[in-house]
Amino acid sequence: MKKTRITSIRSSLAWLVAACLFPATLTAALLLAYDYQRQRAELVRDTVAHARALMHAVDREFAGAEMSLRSLSTSPSLQSRDFAAFQAQATALLHRHYANNIVLIDASGQQRINTARPYGQALPKATNMAQLERVLQNGRTDISDLFIGPVLKRPLINVAVPVYSGNAVSHSLVAVVLPEHLQKILSDYRFPSDRIATIFDASGVIVARTHEIHQFIGQPLGSDLTQRLTEVDEASLEAVSREGIPVLSVFTRSPTSRWGVAIGIPIASLTGELRHSLWLLGGLATLLLASSLGLAWVMGGRIVQSVRALRSAALSLGDGRVAAVPALEIREVDEVGQAINRASLMLTDASKALTDSEARMRGIVESATDAIVILDDSWNIVLFNFAAVTMFGCPLEEAIGTPFIRFIPERLRGDFSAQLLAPRELDLQDREAPAIEVATAMRLDGDEFAVEISFPQVLAGSSQVHTLILRDITARLRIHEALERSNLDLQQFAYVASHDLKTPLRSIGGFVQLLEKNYADKLDERAIALIRRTAAAANRLEQLTDDLLSYARVSSGSRAFTPVDCSEVFEDVLQLLDAPISASGASVTARPLPTVTGDRTQLVQLLLNLVANGIKYCDGPPVVHVSAELHEREWVFSVKDNGIGMEPKHHERVFEIFKRLHTQQEYTGTGIGLAICRRVVISHGGRIWIESAPGKGSTFRFTIPASAGESSSS
Ligand code: ADP
Repeated sequence: MKKTRITSIRSSLAWLVAACLFPATLTAALLLAYDYQRQRAELVRDTVAHARALMHAVDREFAGAEMSLRSLSTSPSLQSRDFAAFQAQATALLHRHYANNIVLIDASGQQRINTARPYGQALPKATNMAQLERVLQNGRTDISDLFIGPVLKRPLINVAVPVYSGNAVSHSLVAVVLPEHLQKILSDYRFPSDRIATIFDASGVIVARTHEIHQFIGQPLGSDLTQRLTEVDEASLEAVSREGIPVLSVFTRSPTSRWGVAIGIPIASLTGELRHSLWLLGGLATLLLASSLGLAWVMGGRIVQSVRALRSAALSLGDGRVAAVPALEIREVDEVGQAINRASLMLTDASKALTDSEARMRGIVESATDAIVILDDSWNIVLFNFAAVTMFGCPLEEAIGTPFIRFIPERLRGDFSAQLLAPRELDLQDREAPAIEVATAMRLDGDEFAVEISFPQVLAGSSQVHTLILRDITARLRIHEALERSNLDLQQFAYVASHDLKTPLRSIGGFVQLLEKNYADKLDERAIALIRRTAAAANRLEQLTDDLLSYARVSSGSRAFTPVDCSEVFEDVLQLLDAPISASGASVTARPLPTVTGDRTQLVQLLLNLVANGIKYCDGPPVVHVSAELHEREWVFSVKDNGIGMEPKHHERVFEIFKRLHTQQEYTGTGIGLAICRRVVISHGGRIWIESAPGKGSTFRFTIPASAGESSSS
C-alpha cells in the first residue's frame, strides 16, 4: 500500500508561500541579470566612443604639431641656412603651440638648433636615431615612441617632419611633445574617478595615465592588453590593471600613429550596481519570505486551533457525548463547528428518545408472558427475557452468549437446526403472519415440554434480527387432549343413548299404543288421558335423544370440509320443512346463496334449525327470508323472520344448551337447536348472534369464512 505523506497545515502554508515567492524572486533576478548585461554592453559602447574621442584628441595634437613643423620646414631662413633666424622663427611659433621645444637635426644626427637652448650653445647628437633614419628614408612625418631626450634628459615624444633640400631630405625637424601635455588632455576629459584611462605609444608603453602616472610612465601596458594589441586595433576584454585591479578594459588604436588609448572600468564598480540590486532583491525577498512565513505561521496556528476544536468536538460526538464547538475564526471551519453542534443537539435528542424507547421496549419484553429470545448470526443468545429465564429454568447470565440449541433435547437438535434455525426468506409483504411451529424444548434440568415458537420478522435497518417467541403449550395440549377425550366420551354416550334409550322408548310407545287400542273400552277417561300423556312423553324423550345425538356429532375435531353450495342447502331445508310450511302457510324465501367450504350435513342442520325456529316462533303467518353478503373475508348470512322476537337480555343465553324461553305448552322444543347452530358455526370458524326485540321479529346472523379468491367486491 502506498503510504500517504501527512503534512501539517503550517508546513503546507509555508510551502505555498515559498512556491509563490520563488518564481517571483527568480524572475526579478533574471531581469536584473539581463539588465546588467544590457548596461554592461551599453557601457562598453560608451567607453569605446570615449576612447575613440580621446584618441582623436591625441591624433589632433600630433597633427597640429605636424602642421606647424611643415610650415616651418618651408621657411626661407632654413633654406638659406640662417639657423639663428630659424630658431627665432621656431621659438615664436612655439608660443602659439603645444610642443615644448623644436629641434632641427641634420642627416648625421647632430642637433643644429634646439629652442630649449639659446642659439649657439653646443648641442648633443640626437638619441632617437631610428626615427631619424625613417624620416631620411621615407620622407614622411614620423611620431616616435616615448624615449629619454638627450637635452632635457627626460621622457618625451618627437613629432618629426622631413626638411627637403632639393629632392633629398637634408634634415629632420622635430617638435618635442612632453608627456605632461598628453596628461593634460587626459585630465581635461574628466573621467569618473574610478576609470583608469591610459594613453600609450605605438609599442604599448604608457605615456599618460589618469592614475599613478609617476609610477607607470614608460612602463608597458598590462600583459593581457599587450597580448590583445598584437591581434586587433579595437576591443574590450577583462584584464588586470597595472595596480592589480580587475577591470573591463576597452582600447582603441589610431590607424595613423599606431598610438592608442585604453580605458579600464573596475569590475567592482561595474558589478557594484548589480550587486547592490541583487542584495536589495535578496533582502526584499528574504523580508517578504520571513513576513509571509510569519503570517502563514500565525494563520496556520489559527486554522490548527480551529481544527483541533473541531476534532475534539467530533471525537466526543463519536463517543456519543455532547459536543459544544465555540465560535471559530475561520468561516468554513466555523460552519462545520455549527453543523457539529446541531448534530450533537440532534444526537442528544435522538439518544434520549432512544434511551426512552429502549427502556419501554425492555419493559415490554421483560413483562411479556411469552419467552422472547434474540439470537446473533451464529445462533447464540443475545437477549433472554424474564419469561425465558422462568421457562427454561436458566439464569440470565448462564444463557447470554450460549447457543440456543442447548434448550432443545439432543436427539432433536439436528432437525431443529435444519428446519427452524435455517435462514428464513424475508417476506416483507407478509409481516403479520409470523411462522409458528410446535417443537419440543428442554429446561436446564432436562425436563422436556412442548412449545409453540413464532419467528416474527423483525428488521434492524436492512438486516433481520433473529427473534424467537416461545410459548409453553403443555397446559393447553393437556386441556386439548382432555377435551378430545370428553368429546369422544360424549359421542360414545350419544351412541349408547341412541341405541340403549331409543329401543326401550320405542317399546314404551308401542306398548302404550297397544294399551290404548286394545283396552280403550275397558278403561275410563282418566286412564286414557294418562296413556296419551305417557305416549307423548315417550315421543318427546325420543326427540330429545335425537337432538342430543346430533349435538354430539357436531364436534370441532372431525372436519371433512368440501365446497358446499348454500342454495342447494336451502333447497334441502325447504324439502325437510315441507309439512310445517304448508301447515302454517309460511312464506320461506332466499336470495341466491354462495358456495362455502364446510360440512354439508352440518350446514343443512344449521339453516334448518334457524328457518324452523322462524316458522315456529310466530303468531301469524310466518315470513322467513334467507340472504348472504360478503364482508371483508367472510360471508354474513341472515335469517330474518316476522315472529315474536325476544328481549336483548336473552340474545346470548338462548345459544346455551337446553335454554328455552317458553313452556312446552306455549311452543314445543328441546332447547338444543340453537346450541347446535352455535357449534356448527364455531366449527366452521365463524360467529353467530341475534338482532331482535319483542314483537319486532328476529334476525339471526352467522358468518362463514369466504374461500380463498373471493373478496368483498363479488
Ligand atoms: P327450541 O327447541 O326450544 O326451539 P332452540 O334452541 O331452537 O330450542 O331455541 C331456544 C329458545 O330461543 C326458544 O325456546 C325460543 O324461546 C327462542 N327462539 C328461538 N328462535 C326464535 C325465534 N325465531 N323467535 C323468537 N324466539 C326464538
